[in-house]
Amino acid sequence: MDWQSLIVVSSVISFGTLENLFPFFSFKESFDKRVYTNLVLGLINVLANNFTIALLLNCIWQQTFWLGIFHFIHSPVLKIVFSFLLLDGYMYAWHRLMHTLPIAWRFHKVHHTELLMNTSTAYRFHPVEAILANLPKLFIIWLFGITLQNLLLYEIFLACELIFHHSNWAIPLKIDRYLSYLIVTPNYHRSHHSQARKEATSNYASFFTIWDILFNSYNYPRNPKAIKLGLPQEKKELSIINLLKLPF
Ligand SMILES: [Zn+2]
Ligand SMILES: [Zn+2]
Repeated sequence: MDWQSLIVVSSVISFGTLENLFPFFSFKESFDKRVYTNLVLGLINVLANNFTIALLLNCIWQQTFWLGIFHFIHSPVLKIVFSFLLLDGYMYAWHRLMHTLPIAWRFHKVHHTELLMNTSTAYRFHPVEAILANLPKLFIIWLFGITLQNLLLYEIFLACELIFHHSNWAIPLKIDRYLSYLIVTPNYHRSHHSQARKEATSNYASFFTIWDILFNSYNYPRNPKAIKLGLPQEKKELSIINLLKLPF
């Protein structure tokens, strides 16, 4: 196993253990029932991306026609910082678009059908969204000349953060709240998974919450325990086939 996968697997095990030891919501459903659907979707998405996006990325990094805007910046530290912020800002814009465009929402709502939010929810995306989300990102990578190393660095941090903020781990309220001024925390993201429209149409950030603060979508929940997860029209857990068919 390479070191990148090792970090992601370690965070799944760590946050998975913490959410089972100190759960925020007490779900009656067994652990395997809560994670099965999401892990199958995650596997489909990894395979789908490996056959499409990974090949396109290779083409970008092998061409020498355009080396990217960052080619003119000489400091490696600045390149890392700008790459991180650019990719994270893009994630915010993409997520907000998913909630704004009706056609995009049809695919993104698969993520919001989760009733038993846990670490595996980080992988609950429709494959069409999982692939399409990477296409504008490819353009940004090409335009700015983001390197493989800097992309990997962001993706690993993002993967760990997604696992952390989807976890059902009850971290102390004050810590969660203060931390949410910097990064997305479990309560902060639980609010985005709420059935209440005002809560679900805020907190779009994936890693840094600065984007929500800047674009007026920061909304820390007043009473996180009262959040009702999921969509009002989907009361029952859907099968994998039904989740794949949901947008159509
Ligand atoms: Zn969303
Ligand atoms: Zn989510």
